[in-house]
Amino acid sequence: MRAVTTDAIVLRAYNLAEADRIVVFLTRGAGLVRAVAKGARRMKSRFGAALEPFTVIKLTYREKENRELVTISNAEILKSNFDLAAQVEAGEVLAYMAELIGEFAPPHEADEKMFRMLSACVEALATDADYSRTVMRYFEVWVLRLAGLFPDLRSCSECGVELGESDEAIADIELRPYCRDCRRHGSSVISLSVMRTLHATYRLSPLKFAELHRLSESDDSELGEITHRLITRAIDRRPRTLVATTR
Ligand SMILES: [Zn+2]
Repeated sequence: MRAVTTDAIVLRAYNLAEADRIVVFLTRGAGLVRAVAKGARRMKSRFGAALEPFTVIKLTYREKENRELVTISNAEILKSNFDLAAQVEAGEVLAYMAELIGEFAPPHEADEKMFRMLSACVEALATDADYSRTVMRYFEVWVLRLAGLFPDLRSCSECGVELGESDEAIADIELRPYCRDCRRHGSSVISLSVMRTLHATYRLSPLKFAELHRLSESDDSELGEITHRLITRAIDRRPRTLVATTR
């Protein structure tokens, strides 16, 4: 038995047996972790509000070798996001982000960048819930990028020539970008404004991004089409057993 202490963000929780709950976390030190919170359903649980979705906590848990499920021994609130999660649109976006993390963050494998990205997105939402939609698109792009599933749009995938923010990118169905010279038959064009938006996600935090890039309806739907295609493709291609264990 080994005790681990790490920063963690509560993704979701569900009931187990009479008094316990299962809580899913994204942790800084160990990636996606599923844990039992013993007695969490009792009125006077020692965990209090620490296991509410999107609370940022200092988590201590015990793990046994070769057992995926760990046991929570302590949870100390660093930042409560209770009010945020209770708002309709922000709450939906948070739940969706939790779902994507469940799909794309590997269990029990530290991913500092993924943790920092999720934390920053939650913080941006907490700053202004009106940023929900923009932060959601930023999150989709980055979760795909960190999972190695978002093509690098900064250079032509054929000849390597640099593609600037002011270049329209031509991409194939896999979203591999091409310059004008390497353009392939049947490629679609990514509009200039979405190209600029995508470039901005590389260099800006989600908060700065949301402040500077309020998406128009058409950009939002174009970008959404791109991210959803990549997300659906990634999930469809996965072996079924893997999907079952990460949900
Ligand atoms: Zn080229």
